[in-house]
Amino acid sequence: MKSFVFVLVLFIGLSTQAQNNGAAAQKFTLVIHGGAGTILKKNMTPEREKAYQAALEQALQAGYTILNSGGTALDAVEAAVKIMEDSPLFNAGKGAVFTNEGRNELDAAIMNGKTLEAGAIASVTTIKNPIMAARAVMEKSEHVMMIGPGAEKFAQQQGLQIVDPSYFHTDDRWRGLQRAREQDSLKTELDHGSKKTTGVAQPGNRDDKYGTVGAVALDKHGNLAAATSTGGMTNKKFGRVGDVPIIGAGTYANNATCAISCTGWGEFFIRLVVAKTVSDLMEYKNWNLKQATDELIMKKVPQLGGDGGLIAVDKNGNVAMPFNTAGMYRGYIKSDGKAVV
Ligand code: ASP
Repeated sequence: MKSFVFVLVLFIGLSTQAQNNGAAAQKFTLVIHGGAGTILKKNMTPEREKAYQAALEQALQAGYTILNSGGTALDAVEAAVKIMEDSPLFNAGKGAVFTNEGRNELDAAIMNGKTLEAGAIASVTTIKNPIMAARAVMEKSEHVMMIGPGAEKFAQQQGLQIVDPSYFHTDDRWRGLQRAREQDSLKTELDHGSKKTTGVAQPGNRDDKYGTVGAVALDKHGNLAAATSTGGMTNKKFGRVGDVPIIGAGTYANNATCAISCTGWGEFFIRLVVAKTVSDLMEYKNWNLKQATDELIMKKVPQLGGDGGLIAVDKNGNVAMPFNTAGMYRGYIKSDGKAVV
């Protein structure tokens, strides 16, 4: 395997756009994210930073190995996301945030840009790797989205690994829930009991709220795919589903345009149908990837009061990774084997 050259780019206040100059056939690209606004630099210890970097590198390597040997974008994004789901560092799979009721409810989606087939699951509590279940929905059922106990039953029938809900517990996320609850009760006091809320989890402390994972890829055959997996937002209320499993909001792929995986305050990404809108701007208005992703992330989402970011790769291998939060874990690797985290 080619050796990886990793460059650590500290992400405070940066909104890097990486572009390359088109991809001839045989070239491939993988981009991953570990969530927007997760841990602010001031709260990051060197050990923690190392752990995040190692997990992101591992995810990139897994996808790279597949793409380099001629594998599909779909396999690569699934493999990369699965590794991040298995890491307790990210808000997906093991390490997912807690709901208001102290549960871990997971959402995930995957999309094949070649066929426009898509699969998603929402509000599941026992599927070890939600991204695999999303893929099973896409490939083994006649549906696009399955939720809750039904999705769990289906995953079990498909032979996917089922775990006790306690598997997803991490002390870090549990403490995050306690902090979010405190902020909530403080807010309620300030509202003098009027309980004015917008009906969505308010991202007070960004450290606690976000951390979704995702991957997008262009393979050697010119096919695009996107995958996203999340525990949602800390302290989310009963039955809340975010943008991640909603095809076109948090996840989208189309060989004619690009593949996209989003992270951030999901309600805004749903309302703006962010991922599909980026694709539409490219398809119908001929915008390039940078123009289209900036329009949504730097303009539309913040204008509406939301925040977050996305990763995207277009059919020529151009990469965009804009965000409007304090930080976002991101990395990419191309056919030359050079990775940037
Ligand atoms: N977008 C996710 C959601 O709203 C949260 C995240 O990106 O961390 O469920």
